[in-house]
Amino acid sequence: MKIGYPNNPRKDVMEEIKWIAEHFDFIDFFMEPDKAYYDVIDAELVRKTLNEYDIGIVGHTPYYLPFSSPIEVIRKIAIEEAEKCFNAFEKLGADFVTVHGGWPPSLFNAKEGIELQIESFKILLERAEKYGIKLMYESGVKELDNYTNVAKIMQALPKLYFHLDVGHVSLHGRDACKFIRRLHTKIKHIHIHDNFGKDDLHLPIGTGKIKWENVIRELKKYYDGTITLEIFSDREYVLLAKKRFEEMWRSL
Ligand SMILES: [Zn+2]
Repeated sequence: MKIGYPNNPRKDVMEEIKWIAEHFDFIDFFMEPDKAYYDVIDAELVRKTLNEYDIGIVGHTPYYLPFSSPIEVIRKIAIEEAEKCFNAFEKLGADFVTVHGGWPPSLFNAKEGIELQIESFKILLERAEKYGIKLMYESGVKELDNYTNVAKIMQALPKLYFHLDVGHVSLHGRDACKFIRRLHTKIKHIHIHDNFGKDDLHLPIGTGKIKWENVIRELKKYYDGTITLEIFSDREYVLLAKKRFEEMWRSL
């Protein structure tokens, strides 16, 4: 098991890499404006720096690319932007890249939202292949991001891997262990952070309501890959959460 941390895309990329390399095994590279998007980073320098620090990389595209917009031209541009990120991720040496699910406005039903996502992700998978990149689907924070809907998308797209965000799959009374049990053959990357089941708070683990002992026990049956602490708080708490998580992973 490897533990990583994301860069804050609003901060200087090099400073972020330096801090992450001091404490973690890999960077979860949030390729987002304004300081970490493909159009502003020096990909060659970033790759060289990652190599110098001997730190791994997992890719992450903006969570707000509207792949399920009912407006076709907006979906098309979202896909083009994602492709530009894939191109940059190839230069950075990332093999696995996260893309995010999303839903059209509520005038459209779940079935239509699933169809729009499948249509976009089919194209995204083809485009990613050109850059030697494999895509992982991270489900979101809405009620629609339930197991039934996520499973339909994963079933329709055999080449798509699943990115398990334990915080997201614990919202609205959802059972994270069910996602783990049923999708474990598809899981390639994990985000962990805590919440109280209602809002997506990205708290240090152990400070919300997620039953981490159950989650870790279930995970350890199937998974030994990359795990990102997607905790947005003071960095002292991030490091405490890392220590706590490592202890739990070892002892359970
Ligand atoms: Zn996440």
